[in-house]
Amino acid sequence: MHSPSLPRRLLLGSGPSNVHPRVLAAIAQPLIGPTDPNFVSILDDVEERLRRLFGTRNSLTLPLPTSGGGGMEACLANLLEAGDDIVVGVTGFFGERMSAFAHRAGARVSEVTAEPGAALEDALMAETIARLRPTVVALVHAETSTGIHQPVERIAEVARSHGALVVLDCVTSLGGMPVHLDDWGIDAAYSSTQKCLSCPPGLALASFSERAVERARSRRTPVQSWLLDIARLADCSEGEPGRGYTPPISSIFALNEALQLIEEEGMPTRASRHRAAADALTEGLAEFGFAPLVAAPNRLPMLVALRVPEAIRRAGEASLRRQLLDKYGIEISGGIGPLDGEIWRIGLMGENARITNVEALLCALRHELG
Ligand code: PLP
Repeated sequence: MHSPSLPRRLLLGSGPSNVHPRVLAAIAQPLIGPTDPNFVSILDDVEERLRRLFGTRNSLTLPLPTSGGGGMEACLANLLEAGDDIVVGVTGFFGERMSAFAHRAGARVSEVTAEPGAALEDALMAETIARLRPTVVALVHAETSTGIHQPVERIAEVARSHGALVVLDCVTSLGGMPVHLDDWGIDAAYSSTQKCLSCPPGLALASFSERAVERARSRRTPVQSWLLDIARLADCSEGEPGRGYTPPISSIFALNEALQLIEEEGMPTRASRHRAAADALTEGLAEFGFAPLVAAPNRLPMLVALRVPEAIRRAGEASLRRQLLDKYGIEISGGIGPLDGEIWRIGLMGENARITNVEALLCALRHELG
């Protein structure tokens, strides 16, 4: 039921996205216990569906009771020990956050930073990995702060050839574009529910290869997190409801429904839908003078980053975004960090990647900008 005190919003920002009514209905189902056979079977389904979506056979593929950022912590905290080297490929804010966490884990952090608006250079990554022979190489597949799509296959190949484990942030990519962890050689990946899965926030989705679990088992020191200790989690049998914590049961009902919706649509159709919506948006906003921040080959479909035209910046881009929210119920995001005030970030994620939503935004802007 819709609370009269909450306005309806079209969530076209950097996430969350709007949720399908079937997912909302799923979360409202009566609660059952974590050892109830019905829940055990739903959790099994969820984990199998996550394997298909992540493109992996990793047995340790599971939802974790935390947000996407907690998924990052689970990957890096387990795979790094004090003094280990990590190479982080940085194309924006979320790569920098990986570096910041790796520092906290006591690792020696080397960043390779891409040119503004571009993906990482394979050759520079390869040279850095060959020189440092790090324990971990970490990348962001879809950088939500800049709208950059990072191809990962070649970098992962070099990293593995030098013995490194590869960690991939799939928070914004999963469910909006193909992800193939096994084909790409990724050892640990994390995502979350609220972007292209169109599910309420609150769960991280993670997958760990055998190599990653082996690395966690052979640590010199136990990982400081008990709850997110992947060696411990791998020792629990698959789908075991306990895992030492009370699972977020209702959120897992919602996740199961969201994953089922993705399977009904099929990932290739879903990816084309995202691309078509992004192209229509980029074309439509050109009419107002917005120019894409990222060159075409590395432009994300689910998060379109555009330079705000000078006239709109002068008039106050933040107040225009506020007008869109107050008058039309449309949420979009501004830039963060050095791009604050410079760009808009428009999310067409999951359920929202539709031409009708693009048209709604363009129509509102036509009214506001004349
Ligand atoms: N990584 C990326 C690429 C993100 O876009 C986000 C959130 O926007 C995160 C990590 C952190 O996810 P969460 O907000 O679910 O903790």
